[in-house]
Amino acid sequence: MFDALAERLEEAWKKLKGQDKISKTNIQDALQEVRRALLSADVNLQVVKDFIAEVETKAQGAEVVSGVRPDQQFIKIVYDELVEVMGETNVPLAQAETAPTVVLMAGLQGTGKTTATAKLALHLRKENRTCLMVATDVYRPAAIDQLVTLGQQIEVPVFELGTDTNPVEIARQGIAKAKEMGVDTVIIDTAGRLFIDEAMMGELVQIKNTVKPHEVLLVVDSMTGQEAANLTRTFHEKIGITGAILTKLDGDTRGGAALSVRRISGQPIKFVGVGEKVEALQPFYPDRMASRILGMGDVLTLVEKATEEIDLADAAKMQEKMLAATFDFNDFLKQMRLLKNMGSLGGLLKMVPGMGKLSSDQLQKGETKLKQTEAMINSMTMEERKNPDLLASAPSRRRRIASGSGYTERDVGSLVSEFTKMRSLMQQMGQGKLAGMPGMGDM
Ligand code: GDP
Repeated sequence: MFDALAERLEEAWKKLKGQDKISKTNIQDALQEVRRALLSADVNLQVVKDFIAEVETKAQGAEVVSGVRPDQQFIKIVYDELVEVMGETNVPLAQAETAPTVVLMAGLQGTGKTTATAKLALHLRKENRTCLMVATDVYRPAAIDQLVTLGQQIEVPVFELGTDTNPVEIARQGIAKAKEMGVDTVIIDTAGRLFIDEAMMGELVQIKNTVKPHEVLLVVDSMTGQEAANLTRTFHEKIGITGAILTKLDGDTRGGAALSVRRISGQPIKFVGVGEKVEALQPFYPDRMASRILGMGDVLTLVEKATEEIDLADAAKMQEKMLAATFDFNDFLKQMRLLKNMGSLGGLLKMVPGMGKLSSDQLQKGETKLKQTEAMINSMTMEERKNPDLLASAPSRRRRIASGSGYTERDVGSLVSEFTKMRSLMQQMGQGKLAGMPGMGDM
């Protein structure tokens, strides 16, 4: 079934290939295929609708990049948007400043919550973090036994008080025990139900208020499909989650739940469960999930190729612009973001000969300045970004940008004058009037 889907997507892209640019009409087929791909990957319908609408807007607004085929550009837009919605980079587990870090596990029965508790403990143990697992599912003695057995298997202690004590009290005593033992992290396994019910939610809220967790992880079975959206909404509204673990990804589900969970809660998926064994836990990588959801093994390669071509075409255009003095604040922002994507300024400058000598104080200043510049450009209107000269003699505009970005009018003034100076230097370079590289001030 997935192969057929991949073929259809390719068909749609082939149709785009014959076109010279993306337009409202020629992307409809491709959008329709993306829509089908997402639905059959079990992404929630509303999430799909919003996603498609965003991709459509982005695709239409995309600049034509010479040398890049519209189908490649379209794949990249879809893929980038998927990755962006799912959170771009992998977000690690929180670590409290003073131990213990408290992690509360929540989710329906059978999703893999108890297994995930042990998997997480093992994962942390491998990072040399010590753990205590707490069993609070007093309704199912088997669940307590299961955690105890898993604990023995991975050599992580389990705190339990049998089935006669209130779960909130067990959790409270569990934290006290963790402090006494001096462990780094406490993971509290809680009782699930087959369906969302008030009593379960009430108990979770009480446990949460008592133990004040640093992480509340919702465990979601990736085979839940469309329902993952409602589940996430309810848990997030009632108890507030900080992340999720998506289990059973080793099955043949395409993992659309990841998109729904992230989109609805705004919280990152932190790990995925890929098997019944305790070792079967992996960090969540949005880019891998994006290819999985699109159902094409080679999407990544396609995207890489498209990215290379887009970058090359972009760089050439940028250079042309710089030299022709049509370089504006939008271009400037783009360049800055590129720089940021390449890592911290400090890390970058250390690789430049002669730059290693910069003090950390100077580096810090550089990074602060980049951030400040970005904030100010973000507060400019599109018209101002395209036409920096508008700002040269307009105190009211500068005042507005200053208050919007939280900096002073003087800061905005110096950004504008430094930018103008830089642009005119670049223009002179373009006309061959300057020998060698000019200093670019402290921008
Ligand atoms: P709980 O009721 O939420 O605590 O769920 P359990 O941890 O008891 O897991 C329910 C079932 O799902 C068990 O049979 C587990 O072995 C299985 N399970 C949990 N996580 C995974 C996973 O990532 N992959 C697979 N294939 N099975 C899993």
